Amino acid sequence: MVWIFLAMIALGMGLLTLSLPPIHAILKALNDGELYTRWSRLRWLIVGFIVAYGLYAAIRYTTVATPSDLLGGLILLAGGFFVLAVARLSALTTQDLVRITALERDVVRDPLTGTFNRRYLDSRLEEEINRSRRSGLPLSTLMIDLDHFKGINDRYGHLVGDQVLRHVGSLILSQVRLNDIVVRYGGEEFVVITPDSGLDDAARLGHRLLRHLRDHSIDLPNGDKLTVTASIGAAVLEEEEGRTTFLRRADDALYEAKRNGRDRLCLAGAAVANSIA
Ligand code: GH3
Ligand code: MG
Ligand code: MG
Repeated sequence: MVWIFLAMIALGMGLLTLSLPPIHAILKALNDGELYTRWSRLRWLIVGFIVAYGLYAAIRYTTVATPSDLLGGLILLAGGFFVLAVARLSALTTQDLVRITALERDVVRDPLTGTFNRRYLDSRLEEEINRSRRSGLPLSTLMIDLDHFKGINDRYGHLVGDQVLRHVGSLILSQVRLNDIVVRYGGEEFVVITPDSGLDDAARLGHRLLRHLRDHSIDLPNGDKLTVTASIGAAVLEEEEGRTTFLRRADDALYEAKRNGRDRLCLAGAAVANSIA
């Protein structure tokens, strides 16, 4: 009888021990944060239970005489099964959630630059326009197109072209505010949506981006340094205006910047006099 009791407790301890690796996997997936702390505490609780199982067995095994004395051991064994099942199920759920989060990120992000993609812009811009109308706060957009980018591809190859796009993407991301939305709109074209910003704020951001592009050259694999420039069109959302017209006005301003010599910013709806290098 005693051996059955001890075997049940030992098996229970084994099952609890087996639940530690799935919890370790959960902790690895969570990385940090409140949930990490809670799962970490739970892991220590299970270690505590393993010790408690051992103590219980040491104290009770001398008193085991009849089948009903096995009940305690049976409950602990069932407890071990339960903890292992919950730990494994939680690990599988966490794995799924991590995969879904990665997929969600891939759906809205451009893989090359890490900025948002055009699909995301379509839905988000609609939201921002509605928010701006409700709050009465301005909403601006910058349309940024790299100058003579085809020439860079032709001269250095597409891999260097990609390196330039990554460089420009991270440079833009480093200059915007947390709630600004940076999108790779097309091949070498980026859009920045900046909530709570009037045309003055957008122009300031545009000039800062132009300056940063000029000041931060790219180290090429062959040792050359490459400086890229961009042309930028900026627009502020007008009353009654929809997403398409808003973007088109920024795009028109961008083409005005191209026509006026590139490496400059133009403001939508303003005269050529507003074309500022
Ligand atoms: P402009 O100053 O008038 O804007 O001239 P541009 O050469 O920058 O513009 P154009 O539209 O003639 O060329 C854009 C080039 O961008 C052509 C295309 O091959 C290149 N491109 C588009 N997407 C990618 C990409 O993902 N990687 C690389 N390396 N090149 C790309
Ligand atoms: Mg271009
Ligand atoms: Mg272009």
